[in-house]
Amino acid sequence: METLGDRMRLQVQSQTNTLTPRLEIRNLRRRFGNRQVVDDVSLSLQSGKVTCLLGPSGCGKSTTLRMIAGVDMQDSGEIYVDGNLICDTVFRVPPERRQIGLMFQDFALFPHLSVCDNVAFGLKGSKDAKRARVQELLAKVNLGWAIDKFPHVLSGGEQQRIALARALAPRPRIMLMDEPFSGLDNRLRDGIRDETLAVLKEEDTAVLLVTHEPEEAMRMADDIALMRNGRIVQQGAPYNIYNAPVDKQAVAFFSDIN
Ligand code: ADP
Ligand code: MG
Repeated sequence: METLGDRMRLQVQSQTNTLTPRLEIRNLRRRFGNRQVVDDVSLSLQSGKVTCLLGPSGCGKSTTLRMIAGVDMQDSGEIYVDGNLICDTVFRVPPERRQIGLMFQDFALFPHLSVCDNVAFGLKGSKDAKRARVQELLAKVNLGWAIDKFPHVLSGGEQQRIALARALAPRPRIMLMDEPFSGLDNRLRDGIRDETLAVLKEEDTAVLLVTHEPEEAMRMADDIALMRNGRIVQQGAPYNIYNAPVDKQAVAFFSDIN
């Protein structure tokens, strides 16, 4: 039986959970040679939400993502997950222990492994338990029938959905997606964006989606961080950013959407 005390404790817990961001980066900087590629970037992400890091090619989006993933190291700044420090300039949790799922445009499936083995790749446990988790995820991306197929018999869009299932299989706390749809043809892209969004929303994960396409950000984001020359120049809900761009450059950047 749940007592009133239990319920109040649960409520307090869930309030604390919504207050502590799943991912927080503070004052991240990265320089290559004499170029300040990431210049004092701060962001916080909540679980169950999609934040888009949106900006033109070369503005520092992928570099920011690589530091969060732990495959590149910042010159200064800190990264926190659920309020715990995972990386500053002296302390560093290795990439494989960050519980981060990755999806990149050219992040191919393993051609010599079946769909089942691809999706189960990062999983531990018994064969049956792994297959059950794979089945659950394939059902979500409507590819249950493909479990024993090999990647080469699947279309680009189907492979992309398998890659999503693979990234989500170990229940990552954070999903980092770097232009994941840019390799797909236009006809497929909208459908896959919507489906990806629906799947992501069911998982307890915070999503950071990198894109240079305003339209994609408007379609998928709960929150947009507009980046230019290594800095975040504006952040907010898509509607607000679209209707009140911070300056002329932001107006021009959004003007391609019709
Ligand atoms: P975006 O993902 O927004 O297109 P990137 O983060 O990939 O931008 O790159 C930002 C800038 O940093 C680019 O000019 C790129 O050439 C440069 N850059 C990225 N990685 C390196 C590196 N390892 N060494 C030198 N320059 C780099
Ligand atoms: Mg990039």
